[in-house]
Amino acid sequence: MYKLKGYVVFLFCLTLILISVYSCKKQSLEEKAIKIHNHAFTIDTHVDTPYHLLDSSFDIGVYHKFENGRSRVDFPRMKAGGLDGIFFAAFTSQRQRTSENILAARSKANELIDSTYAACKRYENLAEIAISVEDGYRIEKLGKRAIYIGMENGFPLGKDLSEVEAFYNKGVRYITLCHTSNNDICDSSTDEKGAEFNGLSSFGEQVVREMNRLGILVDVSHISDSSFYDVLNITKTPVIASHSCSRAICDNPRNLSDDMLLALAKNGGVVQMCILDDYVKAPDTTTLRYHKEKELRNRYRKAAQISKEEEVKLWAEWRQLQLDYPKEKPTVADAIDHIDHMVKLIGIDHVGIGTDFDGGGGLKDCEDASQMKNITMELLRRNYSEEDIVKIWGGNFMRVFSQVEKYVTEKKDL
Ligand SMILES: [Zn+2]
Repeated sequence: MYKLKGYVVFLFCLTLILISVYSCKKQSLEEKAIKIHNHAFTIDTHVDTPYHLLDSSFDIGVYHKFENGRSRVDFPRMKAGGLDGIFFAAFTSQRQRTSENILAARSKANELIDSTYAACKRYENLAEIAISVEDGYRIEKLGKRAIYIGMENGFPLGKDLSEVEAFYNKGVRYITLCHTSNNDICDSSTDEKGAEFNGLSSFGEQVVREMNRLGILVDVSHISDSSFYDVLNITKTPVIASHSCSRAICDNPRNLSDDMLLALAKNGGVVQMCILDDYVKAPDTTTLRYHKEKELRNRYRKAAQISKEEEVKLWAEWRQLQLDYPKEKPTVADAIDHIDHMVKLIGIDHVGIGTDFDGGGGLKDCEDASQMKNITMELLRRNYSEEDIVKIWGGNFMRVFSQVEKYVTEKKDL
């Protein structure tokens, strides 16, 4: 009996020791992550948050507890997650390429950009619009969030080249050439009809040159493989994939193949790992949820022109779907497998992070902007050095951005 008691006490003590060793280790990892976030310039290069700004019940200056189907980004949550900069995407979905639809998309993109300016003006003590590399660092020093503007889908340009400069003047600093379907610029990686131009159209070639001339980053996320190689043949500056993963880790046409990643590195560009579940880990196609989601996506995609009311209805259905059929999301560890692979293949200087929050991005253990440190902690667990992590969290992206800016000033000096 005495012996048994002693054994129980021993086990109890051992458990206590193990728990305290584990929590110390976890704490020191968290402390290290916080330290890195405090001194690095960290940037997420793709979120679709501007759509939420059109909803008057959403207040970006207030800390929201994460709720499924609701926004994953607000200024206080960015601060809590140690995120200094972000690209708000002025996203427009692809519709039939009629002049009426192009004008509607243009006006929507402008509305999203204007809402972003208004949000930063309303909360000028929390955030500020950034249009250059220097802006980002300056705003970070002020303890505020640097809000850059990107444009997801070049559809609003129509076939009017002057619109590239018009959007540059509104602060747009990258354009994702297309979205899920082909447009007048190039073929998409996911258009069910397949290739239309076998890459970039001749208008698309002009768009890339114009973006180079003005200092807009060319974003190769979403575009087809042929479009990707066409862009690399034409661009005079390094490119970005603002939110893309590795196809070798998750076989999806939206992800970049090893050959594409090698070409991107050769171009000096950067791939920003996305945390959208289907791009991180192949989905289980046998579930009812998968089919319901697919049906909803198809309905949205096929609607050539939907009214504002119909769009609101579709978004509500989408939110309901998330509640009725919660999805088992991949984890941060699954996502970091992509970074591991890409770093091994193309080196530490060409990889970054673009979550796609509010556009589908979010993991089981990284649901919103307040949880960015979980990514850093996993990188530390896998023995990435502080210097490596600083590069991943923004150093690499800002290097490419600087080169794009430099190309413009050098051209002007000639
Ligand atoms: Zn996207």
